[in-house]
Amino acid sequence: MKKTTYLLMVLTMVFSLTACDKLVEKGIKKQMTQSRTGMLTDGNLHVVLVGTGGPFPNTERVSVATAVIAGGEFIMVDTGPGTVRNALLQRLPMGNLSAVFLTHFHSDHIADLGEANMYSWVQGNRQKRLEVFGPPGVEKVVQGYALAYEQDSLYRTAHHGEDVAPPEGARPIAKTIFTQDPDQAELMFDRNGLKAWAFRVDHFPAKPAIGYRFEYKGRKVVITGDTKQTGTLARHADKADLFICDALDAKTIHLAAKVASEVDQPSLSKIFTDITDYHLTPVQAAGIAQKAGVKKLVFFHVVPPLTNFILKRRYLKGVKDVFGGDIEIGEDGMTFKLEPGSL
Ligand SMILES: [Zn+2]
Ligand SMILES: [Zn+2]
Repeated sequence: MKKTTYLLMVLTMVFSLTACDKLVEKGIKKQMTQSRTGMLTDGNLHVVLVGTGGPFPNTERVSVATAVIAGGEFIMVDTGPGTVRNALLQRLPMGNLSAVFLTHFHSDHIADLGEANMYSWVQGNRQKRLEVFGPPGVEKVVQGYALAYEQDSLYRTAHHGEDVAPPEGARPIAKTIFTQDPDQAELMFDRNGLKAWAFRVDHFPAKPAIGYRFEYKGRKVVITGDTKQTGTLARHADKADLFICDALDAKTIHLAAKVASEVDQPSLSKIFTDITDYHLTPVQAAGIAQKAGVKKLVFFHVVPPLTNFILKRRYLKGVKDVFGGDIEIGEDGMTFKLEPGSL
């Protein structure tokens, strides 16, 4: 090979590598600077459906978590499996996570609690412990996660130093909510203009299970958690701007129970049958929304997974006959921005 040709080849390679480095660097920078921190301080109430599925695996939805962001506060209501990964992909400012509110302790609502604590601790260099609110029993859940992640926390502080991973912020702390009167909502959070009330729902034998109502600058958001029909839900959701409601298509799940029995899977059949008795159906949810006069009804904890248009049509069957307002089937990443208003 001629000397000049060789030199040209080397120069081309060096140039390509430099150009490649530049492209990758640009990509990394883009990733690192896309956090949606503006939501914290823009004066609006933001709701992001971080995860909208139930316990059944599917490629459309992970389990349940809802982010409520306003006045510098970032609350995650539930932390179902896959939701922290979703929150990071959705560029939510995990380092600013203020608190987690749990509705009850089924695994499809709590499995990412350790990850929520870990990511928010290290990303935010948090010195304060993450507060985890929930009904009685939350202490056990929080202690369990703190223990499970104890060794990891020690490694991280040892590896990255106390400025990045302050040891005092590593362990989450439980804040138990006692709803004294079963019919009344309890104000349990009031910071920087963001207020939250907890109210009892009925998800027996998961007891007590609670839902949450948020208010900020005259806007109202209600998140039911998992529940069947109760006598008080419509009152708690009264005139909400957003009513984010559990909804399971019982008719399709009963069909799944029948099929499971036919293919000799009796346990699965029993589970399918059992779960229909402690969730709302879309039509029941629509009835509550109508009675409460909410502006927008958003279905979440979507069961079964709506993997094709037939299932989706079945899920929505009869809903519009009952509720005249806006309806959305929640999707992972769906975002609502509520500008200040008057209740
Ligand atoms: Zn549940
Ligand atoms: Zn659930």
